[in-house]
Amino acid sequence: MPIYEYNCSSCGAEFEALVRSDTTPECPTCHSTELAKKLSVFATTGASAAAAAALPGPCGSCGHPDGPGACGFS
Ligand SMILES: [Zn+2]
Repeated sequence: MPIYEYNCSSCGAEFEALVRSDTTPECPTCHSTELAKKLSVFATTGASAAAAAALPGPCGSCGHPDGPGACGFS
């Protein structure tokens, strides 16, 4: 699912929005639809993935949210 990054032309807020083809995104702050599209990425790539990688990730084998080893079956 594509994620588009927008800069609100009305209040200057920056945000990301999942955009379906039949919907128009709006600013979450002021609800303006006067938006400048900055770039597009996919949910599994780009800045969002990089940000996620900087945090302790879920366990790679079981998906436990406390991170690798948290599931404790070693
Ligand atoms: Zn706005």
